[in-house]
Amino acid sequence: MHHRFTVGNVEIIALSDAVQAYPGSAIYPQAGDALDAYRHYQQDDGGIALNFGCFLLRDPERTILVDTGLGPTENGKLMDELSGAGASPDDVDAVIFTHLHPDHTGWNIDPDTGKPRFSRARYLVPGADWGHYSQQQPQPDSFQRDVQPLMAAGVMDLFDGEHSLSSSSVAVPTPGHTPGHTSIMITSNGERGCILGDVVLTPVDAEELAWANSFDWDHEMARATRLRLVDRLINEEIVVGASHLPAPGIGRFVRLEGRTRWQGFNPSEDAS
Ligand SMILES: [Zn+2]
Repeated sequence: MHHRFTVGNVEIIALSDAVQAYPGSAIYPQAGDALDAYRHYQQDDGGIALNFGCFLLRDPERTILVDTGLGPTENGKLMDELSGAGASPDDVDAVIFTHLHPDHTGWNIDPDTGKPRFSRARYLVPGADWGHYSQQQPQPDSFQRDVQPLMAAGVMDLFDGEHSLSSSSVAVPTPGHTPGHTSIMITSNGERGCILGDVVLTPVDAEELAWANSFDWDHEMARATRLRLVDRLINEEIVVGASHLPAPGIGRFVRLEGRTRWQGFNPSEDAS
């Protein structure tokens, strides 16, 4: 079920492609018994449920899709979610990837035609992630299946550093989860938002910003990015959309009694 929020003139539609649980002990292998303090975020079997969220940003100029989920091979629901929100793949002017992990690129290509599914869109790819995965031997299967064909079709644009997406949105480097990991900062009518990507994966990360999680590429870099960015998001009271925090994945980071915490908005709540 999709959910709408607004930041100034920008409508943010939160779309959930899937929910899957991973063992907490596998996400945080170094935490040991300290993970027991977070039983309330775990299922009875120790699993932590991850939402696989994508975000559609609509401003008066452009419609931008951030990430494309796990995709049809994992029975993703993104296409149903889009149509439920009254949007079609052909409405999308640009697809931007926070990074090139397989759970963020799954719906790029229509397997029946081999063509890009978002037919009008440019596909914006962090250059450092393109470089990283295209040099791997062998290249990841998902990279060959979901990303390489975009280059071949001539619809892909690489970007590095800060990259303007519209008059209200800019992509900014937030490296560590992957080399080119990117977040999107939104400013409109004095209100601010951030599509975070995977800088914070679970509510546990939000409270234990210094913990390493097994999905991050460079633990030190990921930790530094997480500490710096979450501090800013709290201090500036920025509305956040996060890929894997519980659906709809929109809320704020707050500081309570000296600890950081994720506060998700109720689905009916408006971000403004
Ligand atoms: Zn992810």
